[in-house]
Amino acid sequence: AQATAEAVQAAAQPALQDGLRLDDFTAQQDFTAYRARGGYALWAGCAAGDRQPDEVITLLENGGLRGLGGAGFPAGRKWRLVRAQPAPRLMAVNLDEGEPGTFKDRCMLESEPHRFLEGLLIAAWAVGVAGVTVYLRDEYHGLRAMLQRELAALQAASAAGVLPPLPPIELRRGAGAYICGEESAMLESIEGRRGLPRLRPPYVAERGLFGRPTLVHNGETLYWVARLLAEGPEAYTAHGRHGRRGLRSFSVSGRVRKPGVKLAPAGITLLELIDEYCGGMAEGHTLYGYLPGGASGGILPAALADVPMDFDTLQPHGAFIGSAAVIVLGHTDRAVDAARNVMRFFEHESCGQCTPCRAGTTQASRLMAGEAWPAELLAELGSVMREASICGLGQAAPNAFDSVLRHFPQELAR
Ligand code: SF4
Repeated sequence: AQATAEAVQAAAQPALQDGLRLDDFTAQQDFTAYRARGGYALWAGCAAGDRQPDEVITLLENGGLRGLGGAGFPAGRKWRLVRAQPAPRLMAVNLDEGEPGTFKDRCMLESEPHRFLEGLLIAAWAVGVAGVTVYLRDEYHGLRAMLQRELAALQAASAAGVLPPLPPIELRRGAGAYICGEESAMLESIEGRRGLPRLRPPYVAERGLFGRPTLVHNGETLYWVARLLAEGPEAYTAHGRHGRRGLRSFSVSGRVRKPGVKLAPAGITLLELIDEYCGGMAEGHTLYGYLPGGASGGILPAALADVPMDFDTLQPHGAFIGSAAVIVLGHTDRAVDAARNVMRFFEHESCGQCTPCRAGTTQASRLMAGEAWPAELLAELGSVMREASICGLGQAAPNAFDSVLRHFPQELAR
């Protein structure tokens, strides 16, 4: 926990130069401390009718807030879609955070659990949900104990009439599987079944948890809901580089001097992120490449370290940012090793429900084992996996070998 706090502290200083308010993002804030700073006034005002759901949703749309679990779907549009569905509607919060290299949700929740909970309550009020399930990664034992304690304090204040009535909120333990971070697999897991992704349509906004229309959000998105409404959309949109708007929480690891969660402008390049937020490359290492979006988002070479990192900006290079888990490779690392490691991970985590992914990840691992890779066969396999897999795991897995064939051919034997 101390290392996490130090990582956040380290992230705060350069961010302050960009004018961000990070003063309350550096130490854990309990219920009493959050209330003392005016916490929950925003939600209480909504519940009392000071604001209307439409007005709040428009503010979110003006702020351009997008889902920060990885998919980047506009949050305001999602709220409108679910709100338009018949009641009872439900809400599920995805705190499974299993993408390799991603640890931002944990960091934010450990420092500001009530900012997240207030965002959750505002979303539940605006969409008019009958109940909320928070699905927390099973490995986050300390965070679970802390959230239980803080949720109990919030519920006690509500029961005492200090705060408005709360919707039912259930904190559920995750099942320890990567695939349960996929939204429909998470819903299956909450319902008590194996976490197998569902075929879509119907989308979870129409038929989700227990067959009811469901609003699914990532933890960081709800954190930003509360901040964006408290500080105004401009406080969020004022940031951004290279033509992009807003802020992103980058989980940075690998060969940098100061890894950690870096709150930085959307559209920042890797070179800027390393120089301004991470204290430069680690001693004795020079930049060789990077994984911009954890295991799923592909591998890029150092020559593309000046491309803005945001939703949609990396696609032309065969990569994507996803949950912004940036893993930095140095000159002693090899992209083929990273790609093999990633494919073994997907092979292990595939739920096995569909053949293109179950058999595809296994075959890809075999084909990638040698020093010379069969490029045509891998391209064919990748195309089948992308076109025919049920969910994002099988669709994104080919990014690993595609990246090496495209950007690091010098590592492969001819
Ligand atoms: Fe399961 Fe993979 Fe198919 Fe997704 S793509 S449903 S993880 S087998």
